[in-house]
Amino acid sequence: MHIDIITCLPNLVASPFSDSILKRAQSKGIVEVDIIDLRAYATNKHRTTDDYAFGGGAGMVMLIEPIDNCITALKAKRQYDDIIYTSPDGERLTQSMANELSLKQNLIILCGHYKGVDERVREHLVTREISIGDYVLSGGELAAAVIADSVIRLIPGVLSDETSALSDSFQDDLIAPPVYTRPAEYKGWKVPDVLLSGHQAKIEAWRHEQSLERTRKKRPELLKKGDL
Ligand code: SAH
Repeated sequence: MHIDIITCLPNLVASPFSDSILKRAQSKGIVEVDIIDLRAYATNKHRTTDDYAFGGGAGMVMLIEPIDNCITALKAKRQYDDIIYTSPDGERLTQSMANELSLKQNLIILCGHYKGVDERVREHLVTREISIGDYVLSGGELAAAVIADSVIRLIPGVLSDETSALSDSFQDDLIAPPVYTRPAEYKGWKVPDVLLSGHQAKIEAWRHEQSLERTRKKRPELLKKGDL
């Protein structure tokens, strides 16, 4: 998979991709992440990427021209499955959307800033708008990192234990069961006996029961009618 992240603040996006799982995914060659500095595509004298809003009002608006130039240059190199704009009013990011995106080959994620982008970018240049939740961030950079992280960890070979993404919360509309590690007893607080039993079938049954119980308690809306 190849992901291009277009931003006017490249430093803000770099760090999540330079550590741990996301870094390993790149060094293993499973994913390429390019962080593209939008300023390189600015055409005016001061290489600015924003301007005052027509009609007045507080807050700057990101110019269409540098964004169009940047996307056009990227499209000359490869075909994109989606050109995503991070936006608080977009489709809400979910695990099933991350699953779907993890099957794509090439993605662009455009980060907004200030008041957002000139509306014509949304009308004509992007194919999809994604929100990471009902709150407003200062820029799309953190949202882009969240989207990319949720997608990249699902690509086979990225997580060392291939099954581990499958047992995460939401993957089957259930919350993940509790997990424990050594010591088996700490300050008198014990790990459930079944986990120490070595009886794999019983352990799996217990985990499934715990998942159901947690989901009933914490996120009952995730359970489909039949399961209740
Ligand atoms: N004026 C806009 C908010 C702009 S916030 C509005 O009221 O809808 C600046 C930028 O941060 C946005 O353009 C978007 O790219 C990003 N952003 C803010 N909140 C976000 C969220 N919840 N999900 C994804 N991107 C977000």
